[in-house]
Order: sequence, then C-alpha cells, then structure tokens
Amino acid sequence: MATATSALQRMYIDGQWTEAEGGRTKAVINPATEETLAEVAYGGRPEARRAIEAAHKAMPAWMKLTPYDRAKVLKKTADLMRDRVDTIAKTLTLEQGKPVAEAKAEILHAADTFEWFAEEGKRAYGQIIPHSVPGKRHVTLKHPVGVVGAITPWNFPVTLPARKIAPALAAGCTIVIKPAEQTPLCMIQLLECLLEAGAPPGVVNLVIGEGPAIGEEFLQNPLCRKLSFTGSTAVGKQLMRGAADQVKRLSLELGGHAPFIVFPDADPEVGAKIAVTGKFRNNGQVCIAPSRFYVHKDVEKKFTEAAVEFSRALKLGNGVEPGVEVGPMIEERARDKTVGLIDDARKTGATVLTGGKKSDRFAKGFFFEPTVLNNLSPDSKILTEEPFAPVMPLLNFSNLDDVIRAANNTRYGLSAYVFTNDLSIAWKMAEGLEAGIIGINDPVPAAPQCPFGGMKESGLGRELAHEGLEAYLETKYVSWKLKD
Ligand code: NAD
Repeated sequence: MATATSALQRMYIDGQWTEAEGGRTKAVINPATEETLAEVAYGGRPEARRAIEAAHKAMPAWMKLTPYDRAKVLKKTADLMRDRVDTIAKTLTLEQGKPVAEAKAEILHAADTFEWFAEEGKRAYGQIIPHSVPGKRHVTLKHPVGVVGAITPWNFPVTLPARKIAPALAAGCTIVIKPAEQTPLCMIQLLECLLEAGAPPGVVNLVIGEGPAIGEEFLQNPLCRKLSFTGSTAVGKQLMRGAADQVKRLSLELGGHAPFIVFPDADPEVGAKIAVTGKFRNNGQVCIAPSRFYVHKDVEKKFTEAAVEFSRALKLGNGVEPGVEVGPMIEERARDKTVGLIDDARKTGATVLTGGKKSDRFAKGFFFEPTVLNNLSPDSKILTEEPFAPVMPLLNFSNLDDVIRAANNTRYGLSAYVFTNDLSIAWKMAEGLEAGIIGINDPVPAAPQCPFGGMKESGLGRELAHEGLEAYLETKYVSWKLKD
C-alpha cells in the first residue's frame, strides 16, 4: 500500500500503478515544514490519453451492472474511508496543511458522499409522459454520459474528487481523475479504498501531472465525453472555450467572493464567532469562505471587537499538532498574494486591526497571521478579487436593500451568509442574494444531499444532491406508436 512517506508514488491507469513516460517525477512539499514528503510520477497528455482509452474500454461492462451492484463498490469505499480516516487525515494534513481535525471532517464528509451516491444511483428514474396523440407512448430513459475527465484543486483534496467520482460511478460512467499537483497523496489513498472495494480496472484512473496538458487531452479526445472541473474561474473560462469544439459536457465549480451579513437583531458576539469559524477554516482557502463582512452600524463596534479577539486567539501551527486551529497556507505563492492584497488595502486607506503579516514564530512553513481589516476602500483588490486567504475585511451598512445591492455587486455568486434571528429578514435575504448556497447562521453549509454550486461566474451546474447525479446522465426520450 502507498504511504505518504514512501519514495515514489505512482499514477493508476488501466488497473496498473504506473510511472510517467520518461520517468518524470515531482516533489510533494509539506507546507508546514517545507520538507519533501514524497516524489510522485508526473505525466501529461500521453498518460491522460492512455487513461481515457482504459476508461472507454471499461465503460460497457461497468454501465451494464445494475445500480445496486455499483452501489456495493461505492458503499464499501465509504466504509474503508471511515476505517482509515486517521491515516488518510494525517496524509492530508502533511501535504495540504489544514489541522487534522479539519482533515478528518473532510474525509468523513467524502465518505458520506460515496454512501449517499451509492443510494442515489438507484434513483436514476426516467418518466412516462402522457401522450397527446392516440396510440402514441412517450418515455424518458437515463443514460450515463460516458467517460469523464475530472480536474480538482488542492484545498479539499479528498472531498472534491469524491464529489465527482461517486456520482460518475453511480451513474455508470468511468472516470479519469487529475488531482492538484500539491496534494496527490491523499487522492492515492482514496483510490486504494476504491480498488479494495472492488472498482474494476479502467473504471477509475488517476493521472498526476501538468494541468493544461491533461486538460487539453480531456477536451480534444473524443472518447472523453464530459469534463468536470473544480478550480479558479480563470481556468474554468479557458476550459469552457475549449469545450466548444466537441460540445463537451461541462460541470464547473469555480471561485467565489462571499458576503457575510450581520443584522442587529441577534447577539453580535455570537455572529463574530460564527464569522471567524467560517473565515479561518482551512485558512480562508475555501471556495465558499466568507470574504466580505457587512456589519450593521448598530452592532459594528461590538462585532468588530469580538471578531478581533476571536481571531487573535486562534492557535496557529503545524496541523499535526494537537490543538492547532489554523495551519500554514498551501505555498509561498499564496502567502505572497495575501501580503500583496493587504499592502494594496493599506495603500487605499485600510486599517489592520490584527495580523496583517507572515507569522514570525516559525522558521519554516507558509504561516500567515489571521487578519482583520476595516476602513476599506470599495475598489481595494481584496473586495473585488477572490482573496483565498485568512483575511477578514469589515464593512458596514444600515439598510437591507442597500446591503443586498452591495453583496450582489460582484461577478461571483457561489455562497452568501446571513446572521439574523428575524425570520422576515432571513427570508428576504435568501430571496434577494445572488448565490447558489446561502448559510443562515450556518458557516459550513455543505452536505452530500444538498446541491452545491454557483451562480454567475462561480460556475455551471451543481454537485452533490440529485442534481450531482444528473450531471453524469443524459436524458433519452423514446416515443413509439402502438399497433391499432
Ligand atoms: P486552479 O484553477 O489554478 O487549479 C485547479 C486545478 O486545475 C489543478 O488541478 C490544476 O493543476 C488544474 N489546472 C490549472 N491550469 C489548468 C489548465 N489550463 N487546464 C486544465 N487544468 C488546469 O485553482 P487553484 O488555485 O488550485 O484552486 C483554487 C480555486 O478553486 C479557487 O478559485 C477556488 O474558489 C476554486 N474552488 C472552487 C470550488 C467550488 O466547488 N466551486 C471548490 C474548491 C475550490
């Protein structure tokens, strides 16, 4: 079995662990220590092509199985993930940085996702549609979309592949998964669960390597019928353009810039606690992380004081150590980008209330102090570009319609958060906000049975829930005329 610390970790194509052509490898770095954890095989288009061909070859037998037989593999995968949660969580923390408790929660969420789609695959119902012409009959059937190419980022390196692999397999598709190059090791351990659960050769293939090259192969190889991508809006747009040539089916889960709106009817300290929990989870490197905090003027002072106090109290450190609440950022580049966003905010008048700099408590690792800012200029970059950073910019408002307008004034529309105990306000906000996911007093809204995805430039389609299964199914309409 592969482990996080063994020397060479390989890809998995057509039922074989395999090296890259030419023996190319890449190091996986621990962001808390900057040490090399492992070398992984690092490929590109040729490996992606072989994997697509293997998935194509495996598809007829896999789609002919009943959903009940496919469910057995998915359910067993979920059980194995739960059995191995401690091992996989340690690997996840070592390569990604998040605290072990967060890593465990991620793996258990991913296991629940496998179990949920094992069941939902049994409900890929067609319809009988009433006829309007005597003697005719109309039905719809569900058909797997075909071989899927899937690309995922590093911030949830087990959950995000699970959101693609589980529904694709449940629907009868086969898949080639390309994880982020920063975090391939826990994906390898997820794959081991799938294989031990009985996924046949070719049904799930793992290709590690250059994103643009593998993406090109997914787009240009006609055997690959669908591309499911989670990552930045910029890359998502590029893939969308490339998908046009073959009218490739697409699911896109892209960036966000979520408003968090605090109304004055409820306790601002409780609101600050919820806000800090949502903001600093995974260091703010979460697509649905709240990233613009609109606080009603009546509670601004109390909320601000509490948010600063809670943020300062967070324990920063190596995620494998007990009690650590915030780990390192993923890499130097991400930390530098955060420094740049704060410099820009400062230049445009912002005040740093806490944090605002690299942590000087660690000799190595990409640590950044949890940061709270106020007095922001509306055109500062942190308010207009997706920050993906442990920074909480505080703004204020005094009127519900104004705050809805401000919250919606962005090209993103992934998630939004509202803190209130007033039912009418909550309802008006849920109706008025342009976001695919709305958390009311809930900073962590994702659940396998609920649809996840964005409006506007945050994406196309939904993952999880029944919609997440439909994303891997075509609807075939069958019409026939009965004999008189
Ligand atoms: P990224 O777009 O740079 O990379 C994501 C993945 O795409 C990686 O596997 C990468 O290797 C690959 N890639 C890069 N360039 C590519 C190309 N030209 N063609 C094909 N693949 C390519 O994103 P990132 O910085 O790694 O991840 C953070 C982004 O992901 C943020 O914008 C975040 O909001 C988004 N995200 C969205 C969701 C969601 O569900 N909506 C979830 C998590 C992360």
